[in-house]
Amino acid sequence: MTSDLRARVRAIVDRHVRPIARRADAERVFLREPLDALAQEGLVGAPIPKAYGGAGMTNVESIVVYEETGRVCSSTRGFLAVQVGLVAQCLLDWGSEEQKQRWLPKLCSMEAIGCYALTEPDAGSDVAGMKTTAQGNKITGEKWWITNGTVADVALVFARTSDDRHRGLTAFLVTDIDAEKMEDPELGHRGSVHARLRFDETPGEIIGGEGNGFTVAMSALDHGRLGVAAGAVGIHAACLDESLAFAQTRKQFGKRIGDFQLIQADLANMATELEASRLLCERAAQLADANDPQARRLTSMAKLYCTEAASRAANKAVVLLGARGYNNNNPVERHYRDIKGLEIYEGTSHIQRLIIGRDLVGKPPK
Ligand SMILES: Cc1cc2nc3c(=O)[nH]c(=O)nc-3n(C[C@H](O)[C@H](O)[C@H](O)COP(=O)(O)OP(=O)(O)OC[C@H]3O[C@@H](n4cnc5c(N)ncnc54)[C@H](O)[C@@H]3O)c2cc1C
Repeated sequence: MTSDLRARVRAIVDRHVRPIARRADAERVFLREPLDALAQEGLVGAPIPKAYGGAGMTNVESIVVYEETGRVCSSTRGFLAVQVGLVAQCLLDWGSEEQKQRWLPKLCSMEAIGCYALTEPDAGSDVAGMKTTAQGNKITGEKWWITNGTVADVALVFARTSDDRHRGLTAFLVTDIDAEKMEDPELGHRGSVHARLRFDETPGEIIGGEGNGFTVAMSALDHGRLGVAAGAVGIHAACLDESLAFAQTRKQFGKRIGDFQLIQADLANMATELEASRLLCERAAQLADANDPQARRLTSMAKLYCTEAASRAANKAVVLLGARGYNNNNPVERHYRDIKGLEIYEGTSHIQRLIIGRDLVGKPPK
């Protein structure tokens, strides 16, 4: 079942995303056309029910879309993780029927773009340390590093509505978006836009109830992190593909370099960790589909393991290709830069270890 889906998604991504991936990175431009094409193929709203304009896929199926897109272009996959994982799925979980009807079909069709505004200059991992406030429904403050910020029609914004550290946060939908592209050149995801958002008594519409913002933010991250984990599996697979192709053709000392056992050891590690990553990701997706209480821990494990394993694979791939892995004629150079973002956003590896560790020791033994 998922093998048919994989073949279909791969063909679509090869047709619409592969041709632009290198240019978007090299020219640092956000290109909308491939995303419109993915929307027409029903892949943008993959996990959103058909009643709201999506494709009605399970999590097990949706991760195939993220993996195959991530295999080719992390900027495109990152867009999907925000548009769908963080914004649309959050609306599905927490929006009123009217809010869902208003936004979900547009997000699935790309008629509207969404962004998720949580991080602030002084509040990254420490989400509850945010300083953005809301009085009534008027929001004042600043967010930064917001993917899709300058192209978004709707922002999911988190702000403080009372002093209680966690119960004092509320989520808002904002359409009056004041965004400016982040000024400094970035290591990876150069085909994405990352923006500073400013709020000056900006009107917002509460989503998920006043005081529920922390819960809303974390539940959105549960969806988003699965997409990040699957995107990392895609990067990992691409690095293995490129390494294998090179090892089977490049000759030194009169032999293919793939005939050297040290190269085979690198390939064996990459291939073994890829299988482990894909299985962990699928396991987290199965638990999410079953609404199993362990889904959050498994999703954090998948995010942690898959991103770190892909980082090791990208590191090996660049060296295995020698100087040919060191410039952007080969995609491993881009994957090597992009993977660092996946280890940071939606909760760094440290934060994933904290979530997993707390979940393991949190409850006293029975
Ligand atoms: C490409 C990219 C896209 C992004 N997109 C978005 C987006 O769309 N929306 C959004 O809201 N944000 C976005 N972000 C921001 C991202 O979520 C934050 O950068 C991330 O959560 C880390 O926060 P920080 O950068 O403030 O680092 P800090 O929180 O300042 O962390 C610095 C270091 O300290 C470690 N650390 C922090 N606390 C602890 C602790 N308790 N124990 C151990 N170590 C700890 C961290 O792991 C990290 O290594 C994006 C970031 C990037 C790079």
